[in-house]
Amino acid sequence: MTEVWTAVLEDLASKVSSHIFESWFKNIGFDRIESDVAYLYVGDDFFKVWIENNYLDLIEHSFFSVLSEPIRPTILVQDAHESVESPVQSITFNEQQSAAKQGISGRKVATLPEFDLNKKAKELGLSPRYTFDEFVVGSNNEFVHAASAAVASSPTRTYNPLFIFGGTGLGKTHLLQAIGLEALKRDPTTRVCYLSTEEFTNQMIAALRSREMPAFRKRFRDNVDLLLIDDIQFIGGKVSTQEEFFHTFNALYNSGKQIVITSDKSPRDLPGIEERLASRFAWGLIADIQPPRMETRVAILEKKAEADGIRLSKDVAMLIASTVSSNVRELEGTLIRLGAQASLMGTLLTLDFVKNSLAQMNLQRVKVLTTQHIIKIVANYYDIKPADIRGAGRTRAISRPRQIAMYLSRKLTRSSYPELGRDFKKDHSSVITAFKKMSKIVAKGEELSSDIAKIESTLMR
Ligand code: ADP
Ligand code: MG
Repeated sequence: MTEVWTAVLEDLASKVSSHIFESWFKNIGFDRIESDVAYLYVGDDFFKVWIENNYLDLIEHSFFSVLSEPIRPTILVQDAHESVESPVQSITFNEQQSAAKQGISGRKVATLPEFDLNKKAKELGLSPRYTFDEFVVGSNNEFVHAASAAVASSPTRTYNPLFIFGGTGLGKTHLLQAIGLEALKRDPTTRVCYLSTEEFTNQMIAALRSREMPAFRKRFRDNVDLLLIDDIQFIGGKVSTQEEFFHTFNALYNSGKQIVITSDKSPRDLPGIEERLASRFAWGLIADIQPPRMETRVAILEKKAEADGIRLSKDVAMLIASTVSSNVRELEGTLIRLGAQASLMGTLLTLDFVKNSLAQMNLQRVKVLTTQHIIKIVANYYDIKPADIRGAGRTRAISRPRQIAMYLSRKLTRSSYPELGRDFKKDHSSVITAFKKMSKIVAKGEELSSDIAKIESTLMR
């Protein structure tokens, strides 16, 4: 039996920083497993409440990893005698927070009547749609979801930083914003700062230009309780941004503020990141998101359909989920497209209709569209020659269309980057760069994105 606990501890140790492991998990005692309950004991009430509020899911997850069976951990206080004294004074945490943790009332802020979460969310750049409620949990994301929920419920003292990584369209931004929304819901006075790494860079550059660095520093270092940074991979290779972010990170971390970071890669796989930053990213907890499996894809479709008022049968959901498997954004997009098509044609999403539509979409995407064809259409649009796109010219009049053609080729054919590199007679890394750049432009709806949309609709005709 104790081997099980040893294995659970090892698993836990691999998932949290050594600091957190030493402070919380190392001192938990293991008693026994009876039916599906694991009895664990700790030294005092505070410890018990803390573990229960922050780490129960994580411990449960580790039991599951070890035993492949759902085991519910129950925390007992070892010596009831000691637990009578309130530990609040002896702990160096923010007292208000500790009190809140233990259910001691006295916080007036949470019930401020004028507080309007949606309004506040918008001001902060958070989408009110990206809540934990709207997030479907599956085996691909249950760990990162639990970690995010823990951070949202007690910022600063669970995992700091929380580093979330995973492929595109898998829900990183959604979770990051959910943490912000939940923290605000729990305590509207929390000073949440959500921004992309690009915005951080831009704001820093603007501050440098206008000689307002002290104000910039103050804004991030002194006025934030919860810093949510999206897509940290874009800091790669940017030396001065890294320098500034390093100091921001240290200042916040040292004053016990919570930092959550998302990335498309794990810290050690991030290119062009200084070692001292990469190692700090690993101080807390690193959690990844994998692509969802079939059941989760079906559940996500059902949830989205309900939210959008689309009637979707199980059969149809399964058909879509088995056709679109790469990422959630695409899954969502397909459902919305199908819903729009169906309503245009005044039909319901029947199995036949969806089968046909999907076949058409696939037909266009896989068979008809080739890189050659895309290059031709883009060249036409910009009144240049296809040979220019494949050539070496670097003027903007040529490089822009080239990047658009690369972006659309990656999006619409299923070619790999090396294949695309050959088609464009360029190194595959320039296709990656172009794809990232254009994706961002499209995501932000910048001016160019309407040109891209026009070209795309020509291609899809
Ligand atoms: P990423 O930031 O990882 O590229 P996003 O967070 O932008 O991905 O997610 C893409 C879309 O998919 C969003 O609309 C998001 O709401 C949705 N999504 C992703 N994962 C889930 C999930 N587990 N449950 C519900 N919706 C999800
Ligand atoms: Mg994102």
